[in-house]
Amino acid sequence: RSGFVGIIGRPNVGKSTLLNRVLGQKISITSNKPQTTRNRILGICNRPGEQMLFLDTPGIHQARGPLHRYMVEQALSTCGGVDLALYLIEATSGPLRRADEVLERVAACGRPLFLVINKIDQVPRPRLLEIIESYRSHDFAETIPVSALTGEGVDGLLQTIGRYL
Ligand code: GDP
Ligand code: MG
Repeated sequence: RSGFVGIIGRPNVGKSTLLNRVLGQKISITSNKPQTTRNRILGICNRPGEQMLFLDTPGIHQARGPLHRYMVEQALSTCGGVDLALYLIEATSGPLRRADEVLERVAACGRPLFLVINKIDQVPRPRLLEIIESYRSHDFAETIPVSALTGEGVDGLLQTIGRYL
């Protein structure tokens, strides 16, 4: 089994860190500065019986100027070309308070969509449950908490992805 997996989300939520964790090497540049990733980056993860091709993307954000618009387009067009998309958020931002227009646009791509809640090393468990609850009205195929930094939950994420390929 094999398939393309897009990693989508706002700047700085840890998309590149997650890709590096999955690959076990630093292929994508990570930084606490937003907009470090300017193009799609492909990483291949081989596991027994399956191959996952991960696409790291620039963060989706309010586009200002041509370069930013280009980056947003790269991210959104990725959704259309993958078998599965991971919508990455950071637990540190807390529960969803109002309609998330980025999420609406990503959900409209019509691919199976996982909610991946990153940076769980930074929040206590009750807080994590609040976050999960706040996204309940959205139709995610799976909701998976992880820490790309420590690796917690990442193997489970890969196993779950494997079931969709
Ligand atoms: P991207 O813009 O979505 O690609 O985000 P990056 O992967 O560049 O990460 C942005 C910042 O968040 C960096 O400083 C990372 O070290 C940090 N970061 C990423 N994942 C985690 C995590 O699971 N836990 C914590 N504490 N920090 C993280
Ligand atoms: Mg990045």
